Amino acid sequence: MTAVTYELIKKDTKTKARRGRVTTPHGTIETPVFMPVGTAATVKAMRPEEVKAMGAEIILSNTYHLYLRPGHEIVREAGGLHKFMNWDRPILTDSGGFQVFSLGALRKITEEGVQFRSHIDGSKHMLSPEKSIEIQTALGSDIMMAFDECAPYPADWNYVKDSMERTTRWLRRCKEAHTNTEKQALFGIMQGGMYKDLRKQSAEEIVELDLPGYAIGGLSVGEPKELMCEIMDDCVDYLPENKPRYLMGVGTPDYLFEGVERGVDMFDCVLPTRIARHGMAMTSAGRVNIKNAKYERDFTPLDHECDCYTCRNYSRAYLRHLFKCNEILSAMLLSNHNLHFLVNMMRNIRKSIEEDRFTEYKKEFYEKYGAF
Ligand SMILES: [Zn+2]
Repeated sequence: MTAVTYELIKKDTKTKARRGRVTTPHGTIETPVFMPVGTAATVKAMRPEEVKAMGAEIILSNTYHLYLRPGHEIVREAGGLHKFMNWDRPILTDSGGFQVFSLGALRKITEEGVQFRSHIDGSKHMLSPEKSIEIQTALGSDIMMAFDECAPYPADWNYVKDSMERTTRWLRRCKEAHTNTEKQALFGIMQGGMYKDLRKQSAEEIVELDLPGYAIGGLSVGEPKELMCEIMDDCVDYLPENKPRYLMGVGTPDYLFEGVERGVDMFDCVLPTRIARHGMAMTSAGRVNIKNAKYERDFTPLDHECDCYTCRNYSRAYLRHLFKCNEILSAMLLSNHNLHFLVNMMRNIRKSIEEDRFTEYKKEFYEKYGAF
């Protein structure tokens, strides 16, 4: 019995969009789903109760950050990540791969793994498939991700091929090291950059391992949107229909729609909470920059169509004032709205698939939202 299973509920008749359900030891997740990111065991500026109240069913947390601070042994002693951070719903942890590869000059890749220096104190560490699984086992996440290399863009075919093949070898080592299979599921990650032949090879090799879910990695890394959509189209076709598909690191409304349309089930991104801390909001009428002088005397809500706590109780003028004064409440209220906006958008997307009007809903949304 695997820890995580997927049930396909309904397929859209005009696109590859699909409505499904992922079952984990900490509850079920209705898909397609957006997963808020809680990098350091907290969704920044939000209490878990608020994240739950808006209907978020799963959050993501980062292995690299929790390994360095407070250390996975401390989280294990605390009773695991769910207990440590007071979140009793599903958690997905990444492998730490993406963060260590982003360290640039501070890291070195070998067949064994990646040697790196901490961005905090410069101390030396080694992250390998086995180490990543050890850390994620200590954290106790419902879904763990395989340790992979996300190739940069642009990168030549030979580099991407070597990197992708190593990622597959690392995946086999991850599977070998993963023993807590009844409580935690391991998802594999497809790589292959912008090369269709490599994507196909990667998919065939990882699908052979019969894992409970698969992610599409290495997209949304700076390539044009059209190219991303084209590659994604193929990637999804190479993955099995009876397993959840997760597009990593994607969270703008348009990318979520494009992903859903192509049959992706799960998404995550720091964007909604990060832009909130910079005074930016996503609303049904497009992006709002709360710093803008035109909101000084705007006593209307941030988003007329939103029923979140922020929009029910505060005006744009007040939010602008908080931001200008560097008040902590500014980040709290804008983060609450932005996450609510995306979680609610995904709820509407699921409903539109159930009612077989996903394409119509997408069109409606784009017309109101305007340029992305
Ligand atoms: Zn709102």
